[in-house]
Amino acid sequence: MNKTVVVTGASRGIGKAISSLFAENRYNVVVNYNKSYESASALVSELKAKGYSAVAFKADISNSAESSALVDFAVSAFGKIDALVNNAGISEQKLFTDVTDSDWNNMLSVNLTGCFNCCRAASRYMILKKYGSIINISSMWGISGASCEVHYSASKAGVIGLTKALAKELGPSNIRVNCVAPGVIATEMNSHLSFEDISALKNETPLCRIGDPREVAEAVLFLASEKASFITGQTLCVDGGFII
Ligand code: NAP
Repeated sequence: MNKTVVVTGASRGIGKAISSLFAENRYNVVVNYNKSYESASALVSELKAKGYSAVAFKADISNSAESSALVDFAVSAFGKIDALVNNAGISEQKLFTDVTDSDWNNMLSVNLTGCFNCCRAASRYMILKKYGSIINISSMWGISGASCEVHYSASKAGVIGLTKALAKELGPSNIRVNCVAPGVIATEMNSHLSFEDISALKNETPLCRIGDPREVAEAVLFLASEKASFITGQTLCVDGGFII
């Protein structure tokens, strides 16, 4: 029987690459989106045309009821949830003194509360089955901190803390919880960066380039798989060596 994965924020970028790779590896994939209905639908059509099992579901993961509905939908569509990938996220660059209450609350509610909402909803099913794997997408900035991204860095550091604590609590239920911390990856999230910005980031990266979403997806698939059966509570950096 195929495994089932829920991928949040799967309409584009890293989430799209994760969904495609899991589908190719015979998972049933629930492609979550919030605003991008058309690209999520196009991804599902593309995967189905290749003979894979995928379905789109709209949910704003910062909303607890919608996050529960997402997980409930996965279980009703496929009978179970084996893996959850908390990938949905937002970013913003601002001087710290310009960050408003609303900027701060919005960042934390999507990047950290969203992860909490989906982890809680999925772990209720996983605990009953005594099986599951959760992979949270943090960021290298959650480890090292980024100037002019204090709220983003704080939210991503929170995801790492949540991951470690949850790994301890859910380990006895045979549920593994890990993080992937990407470096600079070629997605829309970085589309505002100038050629000079990207060149500077490449120069700071030991592998001298930025990453492809597929390279993040491969790490996520590994952590979800039985190949990582004794790995929990860890943060795997996929950053070309940026924060060594
Ligand atoms: P992206 O291209 O901007 O895509 C973000 C995704 O998140 C979209 O699919 C978006 O869907 C979804 N999303 C945003 N708010 C949501 C909400 N409230 N509910 C549900 N979905 C929501 O970003 P990306 O680069 O692929 O980033 C994916 C993850 O990797 C993020 O957590 C990001 O922080 C992390 N990351 C990225 C990089 C990088 O360099 N790109 C580096 C480190 C970490 P809708 O359009 O449907 O709302």
